Amino acid sequence: MSDLIDAKGSCLCGAIEVTARHLSKDVGACHCSMCRKWSGGPLLAVDGGTDVSFAGEENISLFDSSDWAERAFCGKCGTHLFYKLKQSGQYIVPAGLFEDDKRFVFEHQIFIDEKPAYYRFANETRDMTGAEVFAKYAPPSG
Ligand SMILES: [Zn+2]
Ligand SMILES: [Zn+2]
Repeated sequence: MSDLIDAKGSCLCGAIEVTARHLSKDVGACHCSMCRKWSGGPLLAVDGGTDVSFAGEENISLFDSSDWAERAFCGKCGTHLFYKLKQSGQYIVPAGLFEDDKRFVFEHQIFIDEKPAYYRFANETRDMTGAEVFAKYAPPSG
């Protein structure tokens, strides 16, 4: 995978800095009801793989959002830091954390079937329903 980039970012208050060494440039939007409740709107995020590290880790608050994933935020300012798959250790990181976002491309939208009618992105993207996402990435079982 040659398209991965190095990127640095931080939360709003600066207590936490994030470094990703194999970050995807492809931004995905998630319209699922959990992401919308968490973010106040669709979650725009990039795949950080497993190589994501944080400075100021003592300020990170973790929330167990399902049996298979946890979500983290800055305990001081509330900035959302990541959605992490427990089994693989894969980080999905909000695109807005990163300073240099000129390299990002809005590439796909998931849980398009859960998107409410009151908004719609004009970008040309690859769209997947929740069922398609689970079929492609294997539903967490057991
Ligand atoms: Zn903060
Ligand atoms: Zn979601």
